[in-house]
Amino acid sequence: MPNAFILSEMTWEDARDALDKAELAIIPTGSFEQHGPHMTFEVDTARAVAFSKMLAEKLYPRVILAPPIAFGVSFHHMKFPGSITLRHETFQAMVYDVVWSLREHGVKQFFIINGHGGNKSSLDVMAVRLRRELDVDIAWSAFTLLASETRKWYARSEMTGHACEGETSQALYLAPHVVKRKRIVRGATKGYPYKLLGKGNSGIVVPYTFDEITDNGALGDATQATEERGKAIVEEALAKTVEFLTDFMDKNRGGSRE
Ligand SMILES: [Zn+2]
Repeated sequence: MPNAFILSEMTWEDARDALDKAELAIIPTGSFEQHGPHMTFEVDTARAVAFSKMLAEKLYPRVILAPPIAFGVSFHHMKFPGSITLRHETFQAMVYDVVWSLREHGVKQFFIINGHGGNKSSLDVMAVRLRRELDVDIAWSAFTLLASETRKWYARSEMTGHACEGETSQALYLAPHVVKRKRIVRGATKGYPYKLLGKGNSGIVVPYTFDEITDNGALGDATQATEERGKAIVEEALAKTVEFLTDFMDKNRGGSRE
């Protein structure tokens, strides 16, 4: 049955039947923030949703796909007009309440597909809290980082990770409607605000904002982006995620939800 795993397309009767079979809920999280001169605000959410759909399709009927949390923690993009941020506590509360609600309907395993780096610290905190307080099995993934092989090709740019060749390639493949192809440009990067930040020095964390490191909101060189490269990144990440989640579900409650 097509899309029988997408909660937002179901009635409550459909949901009752799907939840009866499902062991795990996938929750996409994203952001509403600027993505350079060539992509729209919904890039992170659109990528997370599209990737989650592919994942759910492969694991159906063991999983259902929850609607996305379409705003994230984006204070570092607020100097760019139109960006909307949640406070950390708002984002954390939304994650908590979505998991709590689905837990009420009998789901005990959760996997969050996160499309936005700014949500990382909140998700780290909430995953621990939800496991402890609601007795659920939960994991989350910055799915792009799983594509360690295919991502190597764009490790050439000094600063990547946002509206760069990697993210733009993924967007071209996963959600082409968010890309304004004729406006694709290189990031107008200014370097990091302090010595030693950047590649190879992730042991130092400074909460700089994006206007401090790029004039046009983009990093890297999106002119190198192609749909084929995006497909390769997604396929590597998808294969690893399917492998992980199958193992995760098998080793946790594995269908015995009573
Ligand atoms: Zn992004």
